[in-house]
Amino acid sequence: MSNLFHKILIANRGEIACRVIRTAHRMGIICVAVYSDADEYAQHVQMADEAYCLGEAPVKDSYLKVNKILEIAGKAGVEAIHPGYGFLAENPQFAETCAKKGFVFIGPPAAAIAAMGSKNAAKTIMEQASVPLVPGYHGEQQNPAVLQEAADAIGYPVLLKPTAGGGGKGMRIVSDAAEFKETLVSAQREARSSFGDDRMLLEKYLTQIRHVEIQIFADTHQNAVYLFERDCSLQRRHQKIIEEAPAPGISAELRKSMGQAAIQAAHAIGYVGAGTVEFLLTPEQDYYFMEMNTRLQVEHPVTEMITGEDLVEWQLRVASGEALPKTQEALQLSGHALEARIYAEEPEHDFLPATGVLQFVELPKVNDHVRIDTGVVQNDEVSVYYDPMISKLIVWDTNRHNALRRLKQALTDYRILGVKTNIEFLKKIIVSPPFQQGLIDTRFVETHHDLLFEKAEENWEKALVMAALTAVFQRKQAAVFQASGSPDPYSPWHQLNGWRMMEPHLQTVLLVYKEEHIEVFVEEIHAQYFLVAFAEHSFEARGHLKDNTLSLTIDDHNFQSTVVKIKKTLTVFLESSAIEFILIDPDLAESEEEEQEGSLTAPMNGTIVTILAEVETPVEKGEGLLVIEAMKMEHTIRAACDGRVKEFYFFPGDLVPEGTELLNFEPSET
Ligand code: ADP
Repeated sequence: MSNLFHKILIANRGEIACRVIRTAHRMGIICVAVYSDADEYAQHVQMADEAYCLGEAPVKDSYLKVNKILEIAGKAGVEAIHPGYGFLAENPQFAETCAKKGFVFIGPPAAAIAAMGSKNAAKTIMEQASVPLVPGYHGEQQNPAVLQEAADAIGYPVLLKPTAGGGGKGMRIVSDAAEFKETLVSAQREARSSFGDDRMLLEKYLTQIRHVEIQIFADTHQNAVYLFERDCSLQRRHQKIIEEAPAPGISAELRKSMGQAAIQAAHAIGYVGAGTVEFLLTPEQDYYFMEMNTRLQVEHPVTEMITGEDLVEWQLRVASGEALPKTQEALQLSGHALEARIYAEEPEHDFLPATGVLQFVELPKVNDHVRIDTGVVQNDEVSVYYDPMISKLIVWDTNRHNALRRLKQALTDYRILGVKTNIEFLKKIIVSPPFQQGLIDTRFVETHHDLLFEKAEENWEKALVMAALTAVFQRKQAAVFQASGSPDPYSPWHQLNGWRMMEPHLQTVLLVYKEEHIEVFVEEIHAQYFLVAFAEHSFEARGHLKDNTLSLTIDDHNFQSTVVKIKKTLTVFLESSAIEFILIDPDLAESEEEEQEGSLTAPMNGTIVTILAEVETPVEKGEGLLVIEAMKMEHTIRAACDGRVKEFYFFPGDLVPEGTELLNFEPSET
C-alpha cells in the first residue's frame, strides 16, 4: 500500500486551483498555493494553507516561472506538484524538471506529454495504433506552396490548425483555394503569438460534426479504464461553452467502441493519470481521433457527476502510486450532467472577452444537483492577464430533460454586474428547441444564429415600476440612516419620502431607458402601498425592499426580483433578461450625455496587429480597417458606414487601452 502525499503545491490559479485544494483538504493533504501580484487576495490563496508570491501579473512573470515554482516547492517542503490545466500542465520539460528535483508531478510521464504535445506527432502515433484519423496533412514540410498543394488535394473546406494548438487559437477554415494564402498568414500569426510556434496541420473540415471525448485514467500498475464520454459540441470560436455527459443519443456499443479506442491510444504512449481522448463524430457514427489532452480537462465535473467519482482524488491516489480506485466493470453511468461555462465576454460582439470588476455577484443555490466551480467572488477583477472564465455551473439529474430544467433555473438565478457575461446567451442555447432535442453539432451557434440572438420582448414597463420603487425605497433608507446620525432625528428635513410642502408623499423619479428620459410619479398612499404613474401608464403596487431583493404585488401577483444599483445604473433582473435604467438625481441639471458608442475605439486593452485600409482611400461599410489583438484573439475593427480613413493614430505593435480612439474616419456624404 502506498502512502498518500502529506503536502502538495498547486501550480495554478482560479477555479482549478480552488477545485484541487477542495479535494486535497478533504483527503487531509496540506496545500501550498502560488500567486501573482494581481492574485494576492484571490480565492485560491485564501483557501490554501500557505501561499507564495511568484511575481508580476503577466503569466510569463508568474505562473510560467518554472524555477521559481520549484524553488518554492523546495522551501515549502511539498512532495508533489499539481499543475491544474493550462499554464505548465502540458509542458514536458516542467514534468521532467519536477521529477529531477525530487517532486512527484501529478500528471502523466513527461514522455507521454511530449508524444501528444504536437498534434502532428500525435496523429502519427495514433495512425500506427490504428486509431481512425480525419483525412488531412500532418507532415513536417511547412512551405506555403506545399501546404496549399496539400489543401487542394484534401479538397475544400479545409481546416488550418496550429500543431502546437489549444483553445481554438489560430484555427481557420479555408473555404476555397483563392483564400488559402491570406488565411494561412493570419493563422500563422495568431499561432506564433499564442504558442511561439507557427507550424500548421491541415484537416478536411467536416460539417455536421460532434465533438465527443472520452475520459480515461491509467495507473502505474498497467490498469486503464474509460469513464465514459462527454459531448462538447457546443462551442463558439472553436472553444467549448456547454458540455454534457453522457453524449445525447450515443448507443452503448458506440460508447464501448470509442472507450476502447481511447484506451488503445493511452496504451500506445505509456499513459498514467487522467487524460482525455478527443474524437470527431459524424452523423453516420464514424469517429476520428482529434487529439489527446494529457491533463484534467475544464469539463471534468460532468464526468464526476455521472460516475460519482472525484477525479482529483483519483489523480492524487494514482500519483502516489496506488492502483485505480475502480475497475471498468465497477464504473457505473448514472443520470445526466451538463456544464455551462460562464465567461466574461460579449456574445453580441463576436464573443469578445470582457474585463472589469465583478461589482455584483449572486449565485444560484448549490445542492446535490447544482455545483459551481469558481475562483472569484464579488469585487474581484476579471483582468486581461488571465482566462476570462468566471465559473463553471454544473447540474445533474436523473435524465437530460430534468437536468436541463435545473440548468435553466440556475442560469436564471445567476446574476453578475460590472462585467458583461454570456449568461443570457447560454440560457438561450439551452432553452432552444434544437438543443432541447439534443440536435447539436459544433456549428450549432452559427446554424442557429438568428434564434440565439433574437432580442427577447422586454417587459420594460414592469421593470420601470420596479426601478422607480427601488429608488424610492433607497431614498427612504438613506433618510433613516441620515436621521439616525442627526441631533434632531424627527425633523421633516430628514424625511426624504417625498415630503414637500403642500404635496405630501408624492415623489418624482427620473429614469433613462434606452436614451429616453421618463418621469415617474410615485405616490405613497399608505405604508408600503404605492401608485406609480408615467406617460399613459399607472400601476398600483405593494411591496418592500430588503438588500437587493424587491418584493412586490401588482395586480394580485406577488413576486420577488433582484434589483441592483451601482453608481447611477439600476439593473432590474427579470426572468429572461436584465433591464438597465439610469437614475438621474432630480436636484442636478441634465445628465451628462453618455459618450457615444463608437466602433472605431479599441474594444479592450490590446495591441495593434495590422492596418488593413489605406488613408484617404474610400472603403465600404463593413470593410476591415485594422486588426487589434486582445487576450491572444484577433478582432477586426470595421467601417460602420462608407467613407475613408483620414488618419491612423496607432500602428502595428502599439499597445492601446480600452476605449482609445484608433483612427479618424470621415463618413461619405450621401
Ligand atoms: P484546440 O486544441 O485548439 O482546442 P481542437 O483540435 O481540439 O483544437 O479542435 C477544436 C474544435 O474545432 C473541435 O472541438 C471541433 O469543434 C472543431 N474541429 C476540429 N477539427 C475539425 C475538423 N476537421 N472539422 C470540423 N471541425 C473541427
